[in-house]
Amino acid sequence: MSYESTAHYYLEINRKVNKMAGGQTSADLLIRSVNFADIDLDMRFGRWKTIGERILREAMSLRSNDCDYIAIATNTIHKVAEEIEPSIRLVHIGDCIAEECEKAGAKNVIFLGTRFTMLDDFMDKRLEKHGIKTVDLSCYDSLPYSGHGLNEVHRIIFDELCHGTVRTDSKAFLLKFIDEVREKATEKPDAVVLGCTELDMILKKGDIDLPIIDSTEAHINKLAKLALS
Ligand code: GLU
Repeated sequence: MSYESTAHYYLEINRKVNKMAGGQTSADLLIRSVNFADIDLDMRFGRWKTIGERILREAMSLRSNDCDYIAIATNTIHKVAEEIEPSIRLVHIGDCIAEECEKAGAKNVIFLGTRFTMLDDFMDKRLEKHGIKTVDLSCYDSLPYSGHGLNEVHRIIFDELCHGTVRTDSKAFLLKFIDEVREKATEKPDAVVLGCTELDMILKKGDIDLPIIDSTEAHINKLAKLALS
C-alpha cells in the first residue's frame, strides 16, 4: 500500500532470508504495488466492498503466478481479510502480532494504528481469537476536531510517515498519547502494538517501559520463514 512500508518489507524480508540461509540467497517473491491514492480514496469513503474486490483480484492474479502465500503489507486492509481468506492463503498480520504478544506474555494491549484499525473491530476480533484483548480507544475519538487523540495518530501516519517524514514533535505526541491511555485504562495494558506498518519508523522498542510489539517486524519474520520453507 504505502510505498514506505512496501520498500521496508522487501528489504527486510530479503535481509532476514539471507541471514538465515547465507550466501546470495534472497526471497523468491512478487510485489504488486498499487496506486495507493485509489485505495486511500476508497477508504475515506468507506468503500470497503470495492477494496475487498480489488484486493481479491490482485491476490488471484499473484496466485496464478504460482505464489504459495499472499501477504498484504498493511494492517488496515486486513479489514477485508475475511472476504478474501477463503480464496487464498493469506498470511494474516493479526495472527503474527498475536504470536508475538503470546511470546511477550501480553494479554491486554494498546493497539495503535489508523482510525480504521483503532475504531473498527476487525483486528480486535482477530486478536481475541488468540485470547488477546485490546484497550478500547473510542473515548479518544475526537472527530470533528483535529490535533487530538485518534485523529492525530491517523494524521501522523498518512500525512507524515507514509511520505517518509519522521518528526520529533509527532513522536512526542505519540508517547504522550500512550501515557494517557495507560493512565486512564481500567485494566492496565501490558504491551503496546505498533499496529500500522509505518509506525516503526517513529516508535522504537525501549521508547517506553512496556513491551512494544511491532506488527511489521512480526509479519516480516513470518514471511521470511515461509519464503524459506
Ligand atoms: N500501513 C498502514 C497500516 O498498517 C496504513 C497505510 C497503508 O495502508 O499503507 O494500517
